[in-house]
Amino acid sequence: MNQALVEDVVTEVMRRLSTRPSTSSSPYAGGGGGVRAGETARAEEPKRREGLRHPHGLDLPMGEYGVYGRVDDAIDAATESQKKLMKLSLDDRDAIVKLIKQLAKQNANEWGKVELEETKIGRLDHKIEKLQILELVPGVEFLRTNATSGTNGMCIEEFAPFGVIGIITPVTHSVPTLSANAINMIASGNSIVANPHPSGTRCAAIAVREYNRAIAGKFGISDLITLVAPPTLETAEQIFNHRGIPLLVVTGGPGVARAALAAKKRAIVAGPGNPPVVVDETACLDRAAESIVKGAAYDNNLLCIGEKQVFCVESVFDKLMEKMQKHGGHLLNSSQIDALTRAAFTVDPKDNKPHVNKDFVGRDAAVLAQAAGVRVSPATQLLVGETDFRHTFVQEEQMMPFVPFVRVRNADEAIERAIESEHGYRHTALIHSRNLETITRFGRQANVTLFVVNGASMAGLGLGGQGYLSYSIATPTGEGITTPLTFTRYRRVMITDSLRMV
Ligand code: NAD
Repeated sequence: MNQALVEDVVTEVMRRLSTRPSTSSSPYAGGGGGVRAGETARAEEPKRREGLRHPHGLDLPMGEYGVYGRVDDAIDAATESQKKLMKLSLDDRDAIVKLIKQLAKQNANEWGKVELEETKIGRLDHKIEKLQILELVPGVEFLRTNATSGTNGMCIEEFAPFGVIGIITPVTHSVPTLSANAINMIASGNSIVANPHPSGTRCAAIAVREYNRAIAGKFGISDLITLVAPPTLETAEQIFNHRGIPLLVVTGGPGVARAALAAKKRAIVAGPGNPPVVVDETACLDRAAESIVKGAAYDNNLLCIGEKQVFCVESVFDKLMEKMQKHGGHLLNSSQIDALTRAAFTVDPKDNKPHVNKDFVGRDAAVLAQAAGVRVSPATQLLVGETDFRHTFVQEEQMMPFVPFVRVRNADEAIERAIESEHGYRHTALIHSRNLETITRFGRQANVTLFVVNGASMAGLGLGGQGYLSYSIATPTGEGITTPLTFTRYRRVMITDSLRMV
């Protein structure tokens, strides 16, 4: 190690030792200190620290190709890069977006593995697929110009970038969310500063470096996608409050959704869900069972759109449970469900409410089965079982491959219970039915962003269904399944009394 590098490491360690430790309840626990909101360490920290091994195991060079230790440096770099992006043509932007998609596909196996190793949640086959399908994310083709001409001239409406967008990404899909956000946002002319989840930072940083390196090689822009490492609550706050960030895009659970909604600047919030499934007596039960297994087992039920609880009418309930087993589900009895519930949730004495035990989030069905006191083959994708409506697994967004089934008298009760269990998130709901009236009634009353009929949840994001993909579904703020247009400012040009050619 050379002298300069030793000095850098010592300076960095001393700086971090002098900052406040994070609390254990925070998602940043273990992230180790971080610069507090309002505090700056600019004088102590060299901007470029090539080759520095990060004290928190990031193990990547910092201060180049998008990976920065300080929010200010990341924002400065992203600001410069966004200015350069604006000098490129729309075709060049298109080429950058395609490059990102190509790199994600090319590296899907490796990055999927790195993400699973780091986050320890989900399934490798689906981690890989979530990167491969990034080609379904829309790019510059969504930036349509609207024009009208008439007696008084011509009016053109165009969609301009915001500038540098601050993004927060979840641990459930760290690289996919960052990549899909990047595709959308760069297509519309923006650059990015990301505060990833602390447990999904390394995999995100690896992708960020590769994307920027490739973009720099072809277009001479090295920091279109930047990331702050290690991310802390303080770095998130700095991004929330920074004058150089005109727009926030937050993808995550209830805590960060609330924080973003309270921010002093515009925030697009892709918040939590608890998607219910209704199955009525007219449904094709084979198709329903197959879809529920497919959707709820996808990445071990980490998707915010994944099937989380089922309401089935009693006349076909037992038959549906049989079909669930035929399609790869394993049925738990009530004492096994009790044992799993005790392991998978803990009641916090502070609020007396159940909280999901992170050790079970995104784990394989076999791990959950062990906690339930039953052995299942490693091939088992999903556990299922009958519970009542008030059950913790029905009310909480469990994000693990056990789905509770609630027996209801009829479709009316199924719809009512399903909507109540969704808790007003307006995120996702699903139905299996051939009765158009029931489908329509549930769709109207549920009033969700994504409503999937007779298919698995992923069909709603283009995987086995029509439509495009995004990993950020803006629910409380209403933008829906995000596209490049979501991240633009409307601008109008009015040419009076001329340019109408016909
Ligand atoms: P999480 O809420 O624990 O973390 C999400 C991100 O927010 C992380 O980067 C985390 O570090 C950060 N964060 C948490 N509290 C914060 C605060 N107070 N201030 C600033 N940043 C904060 O969620 P997770 O476990 O990473 O992801 C799963 C959750 O995200 C689920 O609730 C799921 O439904 C939701 N989600 C929603 C969508 C969507 O498109 N609507 C997509 C993916 C995940």
